[in-house]
Amino acid sequence: MAVLAIDIGGTKLAAGIVDTEGRILARGEIPTLAKEGLEPVLGRIVGLGRDLLSRPEVADIRVHRIGVGCAGPVDLKAGLVFNPPNLPGWTRVPLTDHIQRALGLPTVLENDANAAGLGEFRYGAGRGARSMVYMTVSTGIGGGIILDGKIWHGLKDAAGEVGHMTVCPEGPLCGCGNRGCLEAMSSGTSIARRAREMLAAGKQTELRLVAKPTSSDVVRLAKKGDSVASEIWDQAVRYLGIGVAAVITILAPERIVIGGGVTRAGDFLFEPLREHVRQRVKLVPVESVPILPATLGPDVGILGAAAVAMDA
Ligand SMILES: [Zn+2]
Repeated sequence: MAVLAIDIGGTKLAAGIVDTEGRILARGEIPTLAKEGLEPVLGRIVGLGRDLLSRPEVADIRVHRIGVGCAGPVDLKAGLVFNPPNLPGWTRVPLTDHIQRALGLPTVLENDANAAGLGEFRYGAGRGARSMVYMTVSTGIGGGIILDGKIWHGLKDAAGEVGHMTVCPEGPLCGCGNRGCLEAMSSGTSIARRAREMLAAGKQTELRLVAKPTSSDVVRLAKKGDSVASEIWDQAVRYLGIGVAAVITILAPERIVIGGGVTRAGDFLFEPLREHVRQRVKLVPVESVPILPATLGPDVGILGAAAVAMDA
């Protein structure tokens, strides 16, 4: 038994045939070309699905369902996708119906961050836990909450937006319209913005030698002891710690799993992060809540969508 998993991103479409153990038996990836608008992208999604279902390596395997991860907002019951920022022209798209009709298999939709969280929970760093909060710290900050083995969707499927809790009331404006969201303080984009601000303020830093400093430049120079890069990094990690501490205090999950590009900093992120969290969490036995790096890497999208289909 297996499922077809489809991960719809703004830059690439990835899909795989995945078995119950989380093994990817066949995989494919094509560019989304999101700028071309809705119809061509839907055509490519269906084409990619058809390609995988007809692969010789899965000829003997019964694929019984399709799981789809897509950027929100989504209405999961109705299978609708509303205006994701990375998919121009997608206004109230009946995605589940479309894929189901084109490929002839029951299809379930999930918000991509929730799906990634369920993927880590089932097949990655969350294995064996009953509750877990997943956070992805990348250009933005997203999340998924798994309670008693299930994604917590909340009212209007809006739960899990850990990147948009206020951690700094006077902080910069966030893309969501609020000020000082975690995403505006600790995402890769906000770290790079802070680097530009420091340069504009005339600070002495090796960041000046980089044409367009990114968060990985900040990490690299902070590791070398550059004081401005260190200040930017320490602040980003501190605010992430405030966010993670809030999540732990409210939900007392068995595990926190953090993925996304910014976690490539490794222990340089996780060690100070755990310390910040330890200092702030007083009412939950925080030593019992491991804060772990995600383990599925670039497969998280496919394995997440697969876990969604398996659980449906
Ligand atoms: Zn926000």
